[in-house]
Amino acid sequence: MVAGKKIEIQNRATSVLGLLKREYPVAICELTHDSAFQLLAATILSAQCTDARVNMVTPALFAAYPTPEKLAAASLSHVEQLVRSTGFYQSKAKNLIGMANQVMTQFGGEVPKEIEDLITLPGVGRKTANVLRSVVFGLPGLPVDTHVGRLSRRLGLTKLEDAVKVEYELNALLPPAEWGEFSLRLILHGRRVCDARKPKCDECLLESLCPSSSLPTKRKPKKVAEKRAKRVARKSTKKVAREPVKKAKRK
Ligand code: SF4
Repeated sequence: MVAGKKIEIQNRATSVLGLLKREYPVAICELTHDSAFQLLAATILSAQCTDARVNMVTPALFAAYPTPEKLAAASLSHVEQLVRSTGFYQSKAKNLIGMANQVMTQFGGEVPKEIEDLITLPGVGRKTANVLRSVVFGLPGLPVDTHVGRLSRRLGLTKLEDAVKVEYELNALLPPAEWGEFSLRLILHGRRVCDARKPKCDECLLESLCPSSSLPTKRKPKKVAEKRAKRVARKSTKKVAREPVKKAKRK
């Protein structure tokens, strides 16, 4: 990438960060939790499911299995029953029990903090690991979910589709201390304004710097109008020039 373009993207990322901070001063994770273990379980359940739905099932799950030790000894069918409404409940229940087992056997009952350890747990990928790191451990971590990926591409911060590559590209554009909340704010903006199918560009605070805005830019209509005026002027000049020739032919 040429240096000028790189600086332009860097500046845009900084502007997006500032505007989002102003719009969403409080960036919180919408999954209800009281501990790293609870957030880990809730994030595993949030795959292909809304946070609101996960928040409906976790109170009963955490009441029945409040610790990794209890969840590790749970019956699969009971966990399946508790998490059924979140979808893919069989694999999610299996992952929850497997995660709890591994936390007990390999990490002494404590959810690990390092990304390399977190991603060894069943049902945990980089996105979940980064949620844990940034939300409960206060460590750098930029979770890339569907909203973060879509908005980053629309805002021209990346062209990549792969979530892990997007994470690395965004990491390079922002200070590590901002990674987690930047992700949370992009998620909020994606849910409220930059919808996947119908982005509300006319309500968007990022519109003036977004290359994907569906609105005409301020300079565009003027340019279009200027071009149109020139075209009309050229046509009428040609018409005037052709007029006497036609008349001469008719005579
Ligand atoms: S201007 Fe439109 S496409 Fe760009 S971020 Fe805002 S809502 Fe999304």
